[in-house]
Amino acid sequence: MRITWDDGHVSHFDLATVRGACGCATCHELRAEGKPVYMARSGELDVLSAELVGAYGVNFHWNDGHSTGIYRWEDLRAGCPCDECRTERRIEGRANPLDR
Ligand SMILES: [Zn+2]
Ligand SMILES: [Zn+2]
Repeated sequence: MRITWDDGHVSHFDLATVRGACGCATCHELRAEGKPVYMARSGELDVLSAELVGAYGVNFHWNDGHSTGIYRWEDLRAGCPCDECRTERRIEGRANPLDR
């Protein structure tokens, strides 16, 4: 999944990472129980559609039928997996919000 930000920065997200970071109540509960939030079938996970949620986030419809999670742009940007952002996080001691 590729997101091009207003400042021109481009983030390439691993779909499994984004799906695994879903913050909805169901996924939150599954993680709390130590269970996987989705059945990992490599290569098959996909986003069918995406909708803006107000100005602050986006909602993805996944091909596993899940669509209740709202991802804040702030978290997606702060979780950018590129080398530059990764280094910045390390220097500033920030955690990756998508790393759940
Ligand atoms: Zn979820
Ligand atoms: Zn980045």
